[in-house]
Amino acid sequence: MTSKRNRTFSPATRIAQALRFIDEETGAVVPAIQPAATYARDENYETRKPYWYRRDGNQTTAHAEAIIAELESAAESLLFASGMSAATAVIDQLPAGAHVVVPRVMYHGVLAQFQKYDALKRLSVSYYAAGDLVELEEAMRQGETRLVWVETPNNPEWEVTDIAAAAKIAHNAGALLLTDCTGTPPCSTRALDFGADISFHSATKYLNGHSDITAGVLSVRETGALWDDICMVRKLHGTVLHSFDAWLLIRGMRTLFLRVEKATRNALAVARHFEHHPRLEKVLYPGLPSHPGHAVAQRQTGGQFGGMLSIIVKGSKQTAIDVTRYCELFYPATSLGGVESLIEHRMTVSGPGFPVHPRLLRLSIGIEDADDLIYDLEQALTRANGG
Ligand SMILES: *Cc1c(COP(=O)(O)O)cnc(C)c1O
Repeated sequence: MTSKRNRTFSPATRIAQALRFIDEETGAVVPAIQPAATYARDENYETRKPYWYRRDGNQTTAHAEAIIAELESAAESLLFASGMSAATAVIDQLPAGAHVVVPRVMYHGVLAQFQKYDALKRLSVSYYAAGDLVELEEAMRQGETRLVWVETPNNPEWEVTDIAAAAKIAHNAGALLLTDCTGTPPCSTRALDFGADISFHSATKYLNGHSDITAGVLSVRETGALWDDICMVRKLHGTVLHSFDAWLLIRGMRTLFLRVEKATRNALAVARHFEHHPRLEKVLYPGLPSHPGHAVAQRQTGGQFGGMLSIIVKGSKQTAIDVTRYCELFYPATSLGGVESLIEHRMTVSGPGFPVHPRLLRLSIGIEDADDLIYDLEQALTRANGG
């Protein structure tokens, strides 16, 4: 029999209460923001542990990190000023000339970073088709590959990678597996549980959920030399998340489960409505049973597929751009994972040199009324086709 005292509360419960926060001095159930850049030494001229200078971290940021560590079942989590600075911290600590294996199609900023390091001969980069475990295995170099980067679902095609299988492939060759599951945050996909060594998220997106900060986070199952190196990179690059932004993130995360549930319901409604639409060539959404990664996505997300989907419109590249211009509800803006729905012509945003279909529109489905979103896309498609 489990007594109430011994009950382990679920992450949804713990996160809604920001880990049962109560301010010791005042009893406030909301944390204060600690903005100090520096801390006075004590009477023995010792630094007050654990904080002494903000570039090393502070209590507001640490509180947000503790919440994410709980969501991820991580030993530790570390917050950065953006997703890109968190990604770069991992890339930066790799030894010179290290071999890494990354998806050919992935978030354009991270891909650009790998391409740059490859061109500078700082790293040796091999590519695989996102979701394709055979290609991934072929790209591995036994004892030489240091890092496998998996983005699942990947941007902007939403191919699904089996994290547990990818972890096996990486570990068999002696490499670490990093996952970028920004599209399905840890209320949906707990990557460390499936065998990832490092879980990366752009917290700008679902974790915060309100499009009002940029943030990135790394979480690990085990601390050690690699983690120490990553912590050192954040400290020396000065890329710690600001305490005010950490406070907004704490507030945003309290509703993470609710927001992702609603976004998933809305995205499913939109995907089902448009799946066989005469003006569309294709709907790319892992929540659809017809999606090749559906079964794996079902297992990895528990059915919380998230709000990210892409559509490929019929007609021309200009038809696709026109759809974004005629939308009345969807904002024609980049980013994802906020409460408001966004639409973007991905080729225009990611720029030349990035492989993306010219008629692909990326949709970040928010928490509005699903019928309103469907109406908006319908009327924009009609107008873009001269109707
Ligand atoms: C946004 C994003 C990033 C980069 O994060 P920023 O917070 O914008 O720096 C990395 N990966 C994915 C999948 C993203 O969506």
